Amino acid sequence: MKVAIYIDQPEILKRYKPVNSHTHKGIQGHALIIGGSYGKIGAVSLSSKACLKTGCGLVTVFIPRCGYKIVQTANPEVMVLTDLSVKYITRIAFDFVPQAIGIGPGIGRDIETHTALHRFVKTNKTPLVIDADALTILSQNQQWLTFLPEKTILTPHQKELERLIGEWDSVAEKFEKTVAFSKQNNFVIVMKGAPTYIIDGETIYKNTTGNAALATAGTGDVLTGMITSLLAQSYEPVDAAILGVYLHGLTADIALPKTGYQAFIASDVIKNIGKAYL
Ligand code: AMP
Ligand code: MG
Repeated sequence: MKVAIYIDQPEILKRYKPVNSHTHKGIQGHALIIGGSYGKIGAVSLSSKACLKTGCGLVTVFIPRCGYKIVQTANPEVMVLTDLSVKYITRIAFDFVPQAIGIGPGIGRDIETHTALHRFVKTNKTPLVIDADALTILSQNQQWLTFLPEKTILTPHQKELERLIGEWDSVAEKFEKTVAFSKQNNFVIVMKGAPTYIIDGETIYKNTTGNAALATAGTGDVLTGMITSLLAQSYEPVDAAILGVYLHGLTADIALPKTGYQAFIASDVIKNIGKAYL
């Protein structure tokens, strides 16, 4: 196996771009988060809030109608577009050009959502982060992978990765298969776990932040929002993935002494993003 590059503070400082004092929200990037289904609107709510708190200027979500009041009330800074369907995403439509799209948190696997995702990937040209059940749907329809933009960022946890690349017998084989999958499709793969690795073709990066408090509901949705935010702020896809994973872990390291492992929840990541930037 190739030696991994450790993602520590010096590696982050090489990539980090401070905010320009003359900037305004229009040039800080407009991100779109697509996801949610009946009972899983919280995933989009968390993801969109994390997206804003990571510094992009504007965030819009595209969700089923049942989520409208929930997201508007939970996150007044977020703009909300809705599907015609109450419970699931059935047809993705929006009338602006986002700088980055994150798709998948809470999206579910309704058959109409498969169709909506197919239509979307066939026409989309915007830089993309794909997570959760959007990954599962793509795993079941691998011919759609060819539609995705170069350097699309995929953020699978262990089970989602297995659905994408098949089973492995050893850790070495898991890396070989993930590297081959990344090279073949020209994707950036965020291989989530403890630790998380970022795989960009032959290059493997190993994150050095984060802790077991992250093993709780919604932390993956938060990560998707953070990476989408950085992508919308014009970071190169691999840098957006590296910075997002590092910051996400660092917030958990900052929050842990205050909450302990048991009481830590995904919202604690969001609350501490600001401190991770200091
Ligand atoms: P998901 O499974 O999609 O909700 O994502 C969970 C997130 O939490 C990923 O970013 C994982 O890397 C992180 N995570 C889960 N368990 C641990 C752990 N034991 N140590 C460090 N990070 C973890
Ligand atoms: Mg997840």
